[in-house]
Parts: sequence; structure tokens; C-alpha cells
Amino acid sequence: MRFKKWEELYGCKVFLTTSELQQFQRTCFYQQEKRNIKIRNPFQSEVCQRCFGQIQKHWYYPETKIKYCWHCKEMGTIRSNDHLIILIDPKRYTNMERINWKGHLTASQQKIADEHLLAWDQRRHHLTYAVTGAGKTEMLYPLINRALGLQKRIALVAPRIDVVLELARRIEKNFSGEFLILHGNQHHIKYNQLVICTIQQLMKFHQTFDLIIVDEVDAFPLIDNSALKRVIEMAREKDGVIHYLSATPTNKLLKEVGHAQGKVSFLAKRYHGHPLPKIKIKFTRNWRKKLPRTLNRELLKYQKNKRYFLIFVPQITDLSLVSAMLPKSLHVKTVYANDQQRSDTIEMFRRGELHGLIATTILERGVTFSPLDVYILGGEERIFTYETILQMAGRCGRSADFPTGNVWIFAKDFSFKMYRAQQEIIFLNRIGVQNEM
Ligand SMILES: [Zn+2]
Repeated sequence: MRFKKWEELYGCKVFLTTSELQQFQRTCFYQQEKRNIKIRNPFQSEVCQRCFGQIQKHWYYPETKIKYCWHCKEMGTIRSNDHLIILIDPKRYTNMERINWKGHLTASQQKIADEHLLAWDQRRHHLTYAVTGAGKTEMLYPLINRALGLQKRIALVAPRIDVVLELARRIEKNFSGEFLILHGNQHHIKYNQLVICTIQQLMKFHQTFDLIIVDEVDAFPLIDNSALKRVIEMAREKDGVIHYLSATPTNKLLKEVGHAQGKVSFLAKRYHGHPLPKIKIKFTRNWRKKLPRTLNRELLKYQKNKRYFLIFVPQITDLSLVSAMLPKSLHVKTVYANDQQRSDTIEMFRRGELHGLIATTILERGVTFSPLDVYILGGEERIFTYETILQMAGRCGRSADFPTGNVWIFAKDFSFKMYRAQQEIIFLNRIGVQNEM
């Protein structure tokens, strides 16, 4: 049997073959908990009950005519002759987490934190639109703490692994007690009150969370993915509340989440009160052949100036290209989505063992290094959207000790999105100052 500790799986969905189901029904656990266990068809109305994707007509084994789900096969194939087991959550977790954060919120952060609590008390969904480096995670602590104290089950989720790891790092530091982290290939489930995971991992749960906090709600793969939105919906308790967070919400999102379902909190100011670093745009010839002179000049400073840099490139193939052109005196590594060394490299960078990183857009969000400068090569290329540019620029100047820095875009051609991002930062800085008055 694949599953041994059934009591760890409260609030989860499990898919069993017929013989596994028979074995399960013979366990003491099943006999005791029978009333709280539902057995269902894994595909209902041709929709997979794990990933909520539509089952296509040609997804079947020709010999047996048994259907399967191709969408979520990486988590183990579900077939139409399997059984969906739902273990209703009795909310019996014992390990209570508690806040031990010693920091404090600024007045504008506190205002947003109060709005979170109000939305929670009124059981309303909520969207927080706060600029990069506004301290979104810290603003959540009062809400998380209140829900923990009320014995509620909480999921803190994000579309990307790096963001999940960063969230987990902060929660671990600022809350005592155990929590569960799930991402990528980390599948082992423990019954915890607080779960930090990727949205894909949320597929394992069924109507269990009283509070779901979705960070970076506008990021790929969540944006415009109705199946993943359904996954979030189905993981929450019937009267559970969803809190969305974003530094770059699209107009559609503001309308959908904000106006239709609840209120929007807006914070145009970074937690340390300094403005967002401005974006400088420089036109350059083919940087794939020769790095821009300005960039070369800047890079030579990093041996002495005790700062670090991130260079964003549009394609994976650009990583080695740019790496080969950098000054040899610099210790630099590359990072991309399917890189096996990714977490190790990021950790090395965090420890200050590298001068810089060259990355694809994978590092645009959720990661904080300091003191950092940001260089974007090929800013006009399609992969860099307006939101991506704002996010990449947002990696700079996040810490109170080093609130400023360089953000340069090098581009071959004119593209409106670069100017739009540049103007947006000027606009947000102006709003931030006004809010203060
Ligand atoms: Zn599926």
C-alpha cells in the first residue's frame, strides 16, 4: 500500500486503484472514520477531480477503453477506473504555531494589515496591491496569527517554487511550531495547520483551508488558467476566505477579484519609505555579440564595491553566451527554470559567495538579495512583458540598509512596455509621497 499514515491525510484527496481501495476499507482507520470518508468517481462530467482539467476524447487506453488524465500525469496517472477518496478534515491538528516576530509594521503597512483583519472578520475575499518591496509578507503576519489562534487551517501558496521557498524561509524564522512545505517533487504530506506550497500542490487538498493566501497571483502559470483557479476554490472550506497579493495586478484581475468579490488594499510605498529605483533605458547594438560598454563599465566595479548584480536575459541560450563575455575576475553563475542546481546556486548567492547571477525571468519574483543592481538585456524582446519588467526592477533596493541601486534596460529596439514600466515607477513614487502627506 502506498499510504500508511492515513491520519496525516485529513483534508486530502487520494486516488486509489480498486485493490488499494479494498485494502483501505479493511484498515482500522477506515472503520473508525467511515463517516468522514467519501468515495467518488475521479472524473466527473469529463473533468479530472485532481487538476480540474477537461479529459480529452482521445485520452484512453485502446485495449481497455479506460480513460486517463494527461494534464496531471506527473503527479501519478489517474485512470477512470480509480477511486477518489476524500478524507474530511476534523481539524484536529495539535501543533499550534505562534508568531515570534520582533519587527514592527510601518503606519501604512499597519493600515493594510488592519484591512486584512477586517476582510477576514467579515469573511470577504481580498486583494492586496502593493509595490515590490512593500513588505507584503510581513503585513500578512497579523492575519496568519489570528487565523492560527482561531484553530483555522491555512494555506500560503504561490505559483513558483522560489517564491514558496522564500515564504517558507520567512515563516520559519518568524513563527514557532511546525508547518508543511510542498513543492516540486516534495510530496510527503504531514497533517499540519499551516501549509506552504505551490498552487499545483494544492490539488492534493479538498475543502480544508479556512484561509488561503495566494501570493503573486498574476504570475505564470496561474494567470489566465481557469483550472488552477478552480484548484484554489476547491481547496478552501465552503466559507473559507481567499487573500490575493500582487505587485503587478492586471486590470482584469483588479476587476475580477477586487471589485466583484471584495475590497482592494493599495500600497504604493516600500516598507523602508525610500522610492522605487528608477529604470534607465539604454539602446545598444547586438548585445549577444558584444556586451554594452555601459554594462561592462558597471560590472568592473563589483569586485570592490561590495554590491551584487542580477543580469536578466530573454533566453536560456543567452545564459552561457553572456556568461562567457563577462569579466573573468567576477564569480558568476547562471539560473533557469529546470536547472538542477537552482536552489544551491541561489543559496550561494544569498550567502554572498558570488558577485552576480545571470538568470531568465524565473528570478523575477519573490526573491530578495541585497545590496543588488539589476540589468536587463534585450528589454524589448517578447518574453519581457510590462509586468515582468516591473518585477525584475523590483528586485533592486529592497533592504532598508541598501534602499537604492541601478536598474538598467539594454535594448536593441524601441518598445512601449519599457517606457510604460519606467513611467509607472515614477507614478507610484509620486503616489507614495502623496500618501505620506
Ligand atoms: Zn488531472
